[in-house]
Amino acid sequence: LRAYGEQHPIGERLELNEALVDNAWVSSSASNAFEYDLFVIGAGSGGLATAQRAASYGARVAIAEDDRVGGTCVIRGCIPKKLMVYAAAMGGFLDDAGGYGWSVGERTHSWRELVAKRDAAVANLERIHEGHLANAGVDLLRGRARLVAANEVCLGERRYRCRYVLVASGSTPILPDIDGIEHTITSDGFFELDERPERVAIVGGGYIAVEFASILAGLGSRVSLIIRRELPLRGFDIDLRRELLACLVEQGIDVHASTTVSCIEADGGGVRLFLQNPECAEELGAEQALVYAVGRRPNSADIGLEDVRVELGAGGQIAVDAHGVTSVPSVLAVGDVTGKSPLTPVAIQAGRAMADRIFGGKPVTMSYDDIPTAVFTEPPIGTVGLSEDEARECLGDDGIRVYKARFTPLVHALTDRKLPTLVKMIVDADSDRVLGCHMIGHDAPEIIQGLAVAIKAGATKADFDATVGIHPSSAEEFVTFS
Ligand code: NDP
Repeated sequence: LRAYGEQHPIGERLELNEALVDNAWVSSSASNAFEYDLFVIGAGSGGLATAQRAASYGARVAIAEDDRVGGTCVIRGCIPKKLMVYAAAMGGFLDDAGGYGWSVGERTHSWRELVAKRDAAVANLERIHEGHLANAGVDLLRGRARLVAANEVCLGERRYRCRYVLVASGSTPILPDIDGIEHTITSDGFFELDERPERVAIVGGGYIAVEFASILAGLGSRVSLIIRRELPLRGFDIDLRRELLACLVEQGIDVHASTTVSCIEADGGGVRLFLQNPECAEELGAEQALVYAVGRRPNSADIGLEDVRVELGAGGQIAVDAHGVTSVPSVLAVGDVTGKSPLTPVAIQAGRAMADRIFGGKPVTMSYDDIPTAVFTEPPIGTVGLSEDEARECLGDDGIRVYKARFTPLVHALTDRKLPTLVKMIVDADSDRVLGCHMIGHDAPEIIQGLAVAIKAGATKADFDATVGIHPSSAEEFVTFS
């Protein structure tokens, strides 16, 4: 089929050639009872990946989007965020440069310039994704699609009969119901800020809150971070959480731990927050912006799911089986809307596995084990596998061995700034298998991505020990633990 596709000019629709594909889907779709073999609702990471993979097998695919192509990750998430992370990190490198003999002149930063360039890069990526769809022969339909039957979708006045409908509609930031919440913005509003707020309060202790706090502090804002637990990043390894808290404080962020917001009031052009912690009530005034980053909810409302009796969980997430099939066999779901590991690469991999299985006839199942993840703070975090607490709970205190090292990386030997690095490995004492690798420090996401392959492949501590280190590096610590 791939050879067949290559004979066709880019952008031309691949007509299904039965002779070239041998699976049940082909013979049933040949009846032409359906206009599309797959109708995708939502052109975010999961929807785009599934649509293109399905089309590569010759499926007739449409994708509907009522916003910009690219979804949260491309338009108002991972990509613009990472560009801002780089911007903030460069300020730190400028600090460090003096230690290496550089004279750095007057330092100013233009938020407006950064935002303009960031938005241009995002718009470019959006166009690239649109081009990929066209090249794959996927029809991009603009507008809000809605399921009207198990095999039927409407978009405006038009109805489409489809063999499968994939719901990949993503998620939306949530806001708690407290007085004055209308004065806040979410991550969506953060990416629309024309000016950098000099003073900003951020509520939440998850990925977004700590990343935004780090970006804004790095670019010069005075940041207050309000977390309702003692430590940020619940679910991450305890040493990473402790080290991150110390790094955030070291970065100049005013962390209010074990603190909740009771209410919010408008205050001049900004906001005043009324806080409650175990010791006392506090006020935080003159904040120019207030960002809430307290989680997201699946976009499962108002797309007809209830009408066709697709089962939803209590949080609105679409219930799916291991292959992304909902309670209605012709309706599939992938990504944040399923509530399963709401991370871009998970949605992409799950969507491709789904398309491989249904349209490529391959017996593929997405594995949700050992998903690596990163938090782009300063310094960043990379982590894969079981945390120390999770491993202890599974195997008991005597069932695991824990290795860790904390050090100042070589890059800081000549600098005033001393960002720490912490590396940690959890090993099954019985089998010697490495259960988890955790790191906070320069390049942690890049390093952990590589180690995730080893963990996925079942590597033992002995395998790590038999691997020669790269010297001098921080990564070598993972293969020199004793
Ligand atoms: P998270 O689920 O990561 O964190 C939510 C945070 O908000 C937690 O600290 C939670 O505390 C806290 N919280 C929840 N409700 C309240 C409340 N009413 N008042 C105060 N605090 C509250 O959500 P995010 O919004 O940060 O991110 C959403 C998702 O986006 C993430 O789960 C992640 O999957 C994805 N993402 C991934 C990134 C990456 O890969 N680098 C970057 C950004 C987002 P508690 O722990 O007590 O529940």
